Amino acid sequence: MNTVSTHSVLNKLIALTNERDVLTLEQSLAEALFELVDASDDDKAKSVVIYHPDDTRKQLLSAIIIGKSAEQCNFSLPFKQLLIDCFKSGRYCTYEQDDQSPVRLYPVKNAKDHTVAIIAIEAMVCDSQLHDVITLLLKIYQNFTGLINDNERDTLTGLLNRKTFDYKINKILVQMQEAAKLKSDKANQVHFLAIFDIDHFKRVNDEFGHLIGDEVLLLFSQLMTQTFRSSDPIFRFGGEEFVGVFECSSHDDIPNILNRFREKVGHFDFPQVGKVTVSAGYTEIFAYDLPSQLIDHSDLALYFAKNNGRNRICFYEQLIADGSLQENKKEGDIELF
Ligand code: GH3
Ligand code: MG
Ligand code: MG
Repeated sequence: MNTVSTHSVLNKLIALTNERDVLTLEQSLAEALFELVDASDDDKAKSVVIYHPDDTRKQLLSAIIIGKSAEQCNFSLPFKQLLIDCFKSGRYCTYEQDDQSPVRLYPVKNAKDHTVAIIAIEAMVCDSQLHDVITLLLKIYQNFTGLINDNERDTLTGLLNRKTFDYKINKILVQMQEAAKLKSDKANQVHFLAIFDIDHFKRVNDEFGHLIGDEVLLLFSQLMTQTFRSSDPIFRFGGEEFVGVFECSSHDDIPNILNRFREKVGHFDFPQVGKVTVSAGYTEIFAYDLPSQLIDHSDLALYFAKNNGRNRICFYEQLIADGSLQENKKEGDIELF
């Protein structure tokens, strides 16, 4: 007879609601579920795996794995198909395997009730009481992530807000420092910070009014999320200023990524307004940089783009190298020509 004690469930809830970062929260959720199943199962829970959709949303990839290795997560084709079906339908389902524990697939939903991930729990025993507890825990998790998202995101565009930028950029810098120390594969990746500013946006507001201006901001932010990878965070930094942090495998990627976006904006037909262009300035991020310095450098490159025709992307380090911007070594300041 399996019983899930009130005490252990409440303890899991306390641990969960202590988190403020959605990714860390997801890790805590997986650990809590692993423990819960483990406590009620003589054969021990085998695994808890959280799957996320890739950018194409055509397949799901394991993001958090507890209780088995990544290689052991190489499931069969029928399982992969069931994962996709479960993601699309947003309904709980089970996968039976010969001589092995069944896998229970629980959809994880966001505040709008859209499925955002699937939790696969592989365990021999999972009675109806435990199933109910897991379902309720996921509902609380959904409400709680909704609260965190409200706090982290800008209401108009749904992008991450400026407050969240400080937290995220510091986290990225710490990860880069750790990767450099450990000389891991991650250390070969290059990172960039870009500031985007819509060209002549005041004219949009003046000519068409603030509401249409807001509509442009919303569509502009949607073009950003459609163009950039979901793993590269984008922030609404101010009125019509946006910041993106990009991880690339080579220096050659970033101008292509940013120019592709610039062209996409330039070709887009904004209802009533018509054509709008964007300028951006970007700088390379090094592990021991200060966030304020990264913003200053990108801002100077953006300023240069604005003063040199707009609708263009400028790279801070390139502007320094070719003498278009001058670095004051003593003060660490920059002088514009
Ligand atoms: P530039 O090409 O030099 O960037 O010219 P600009 O007209 O875009 O100048 P700037 O970036 O300084 O102007 C930003 C304008 O954005 C000013 C403000 O009226 C408008 N704005 C700021 N926040 C909002 C908002 O939330 N909604 C709308 N509709 N407009 C906003
Ligand atoms: Mg501006
Ligand atoms: Mg502007």
